[in-house]
Amino acid sequence: MIDGFGRRISYVRMSVTDRCDLRCRYCMAEKMTFVPRGDVLTLEEIVDLADMFIARGVRRIRLTGGEPLVRKGVDHLVAELGRRIGKGLDELTMTTNGTQLERFAPMLFDCGIRRINISLDSRDPERFRHITRRGDLGQVLRGIDAAARAGLRIKINTVALKALNEDDIAPMLRWCAAQGFDLTLIETMPLGEVGGDRTEHYLPLNDVKIRLEREFQLIRSLERTGGPARYYEVDGLGVRLGMITPLTNNFCDGCNRIRVTATGTVFGCLGHDQNIELRELLRSGGAEAVNHALDRLLAGKPRRHEFRIEDERPAVERHMSVTGG
Ligand code: SAM
Repeated sequence: MIDGFGRRISYVRMSVTDRCDLRCRYCMAEKMTFVPRGDVLTLEEIVDLADMFIARGVRRIRLTGGEPLVRKGVDHLVAELGRRIGKGLDELTMTTNGTQLERFAPMLFDCGIRRINISLDSRDPERFRHITRRGDLGQVLRGIDAAARAGLRIKINTVALKALNEDDIAPMLRWCAAQGFDLTLIETMPLGEVGGDRTEHYLPLNDVKIRLEREFQLIRSLERTGGPARYYEVDGLGVRLGMITPLTNNFCDGCNRIRVTATGTVFGCLGHDQNIELRELLRSGGAEAVNHALDRLLAGKPRRHEFRIEDERPAVERHMSVTGG
């Protein structure tokens, strides 16, 4: 799959639910309305869609959400998709908030997943509860521990938030190094109404980097994974630090991905509304109709997102939890 700017799409993020057991302040509103369960793709339909993507050259699939591990039957889905690894699919991964990992980590490894991203914005229990509006840090840390014991490689994702977790970032980096995890920092993106002022907590990663450089030597790595992160080696710590800077530094030239929501809408870009509904095509037209629709999506895939934190309205109405983070 090649888009109108010549970018090869080899990576799909599939949201398996828009529901989540946390309500992170920068991600969701406190009172969220989730899509009716009847509108969500069945697990079989997700697998069928994944097969169509693989047939068109997709090599990596990341399951996300919402929180993927709260979807009923997710273990069957992971097992089914895991069977595609080495048969068209190079890698199956997941992004999770970690709350359900204590139960599911061994299953993920057994099904062929080898690395996962776990979101963790603070290791202080009170701050964690405040940011997530309800989370139990101990439960997440037990999940992370279970994932490490199961043999999964772990990357921690931390959204940098002014006045909420600024001074957690350096300790988080040291902790990740001690645990053998990588760390990626993310700027808050203006996606969906969250019932508060995002600018209040927006923290540009340039500022974070300057602060980290007082304590650590960051050596820019030339590695690009096709993803949005820029990477640094942290001298002496042996940890890889990623920075995702959608606001201060656009990175869309090398974009290799598209995203499918839990209801089967495929988006060309996280920051635009360009999309095609695949669910009915999948149900009535099968692979041919879906392929035709994908061609249209690729031809119109936006060149880049245009996030501006100072804008009063979010760049797009839908939350990250809908598109699949
Ligand atoms: N529930 C899973 C999790 O917590 O990782 C997967 C979905 S979540 C939407 C994926 C990632 O998006 C998380 O790391 C979360 O912190 C991040 N995220 C959500 N909303 C965001 C926003 N508005 N700006 C930047 N990152 C956001």
